[in-house]
Amino acid sequence: MGLKVCSLSSGSSGNATYIGTDRANILVDAGLSAKYIIKALKHINISPSDLDAILVSHEHTDHIKGAGVLSRKFNIPVYANQQTWEAMKDKLGNIKSNNMRIFYTNMDFYIKDINVQSFAIPHDAAEPVGFCFYHGNKKISIATDLGHTNNSIIRTVMDSDLILLESNHDLNMLQEGSYPWPLKKRIMGRYGHLSNEQAGRALVEMLKGKVIYVLLAHLSKDNNFPQLAYETVVDILNETGIRPGKDVVIDMTYREGISNFYHIG
Ligand SMILES: [Zn+2]
Ligand SMILES: [Zn+2]
Repeated sequence: MGLKVCSLSSGSSGNATYIGTDRANILVDAGLSAKYIIKALKHINISPSDLDAILVSHEHTDHIKGAGVLSRKFNIPVYANQQTWEAMKDKLGNIKSNNMRIFYTNMDFYIKDINVQSFAIPHDAAEPVGFCFYHGNKKISIATDLGHTNNSIIRTVMDSDLILLESNHDLNMLQEGSYPWPLKKRIMGRYGHLSNEQAGRALVEMLKGKVIYVLLAHLSKDNNFPQLAYETVVDILNETGIRPGKDVVIDMTYREGISNFYHIG
């Protein structure tokens, strides 16, 4: 029983998250080489041929790089909304027509015994979404690649047992780093990525719900490092009286490896 989650890799260089129950196995995004994803799945004892679905949040390469190969090699259905399909079709290569599945943003659907709900997020892609996964009375949410949060997103995820939330960059590192100005502006913008501080402030609101575990995700390679993201978020929570380690567990995902494996319930 219960919901399982493990980040296989997370960051601006590639994203893939495993979500499962005893019956269902889902990959959320496949933004690394198929070879890497197969190896990472093996580490958590999942065979790629057991995947029931690849869900795509949006068409950026760090979320779809291996999706086409995996779908072809292991006959896995790929799920995305209409506009994401249109934006990524050419990049995925040939996908069997019965493996091209469409979902509608904000409407829920089932992958075996997992109820999946997508929700719109502000990001510079065609129709980007986050996901909530429900099984029994357990809920896991994924929200990465968002320029800002709003009440609707906070309400959608705050009753989760576990949230995987973007903590992309340290604002000072980004501002003083070597990225060209248009790229800096994009990342900092309303449709870019959440900074460590924005993630911390959003969590203060989200933790008014029942959240027990938070995984900080999608860290930038050049403008962040795990300890800085962790400490920035923890400091903000401490300031508001939330006690990380007691009231909530804050954990990390990694750009070059798998996270802790969580079995909720
Ligand atoms: Zn991304
Ligand atoms: Zn993106």
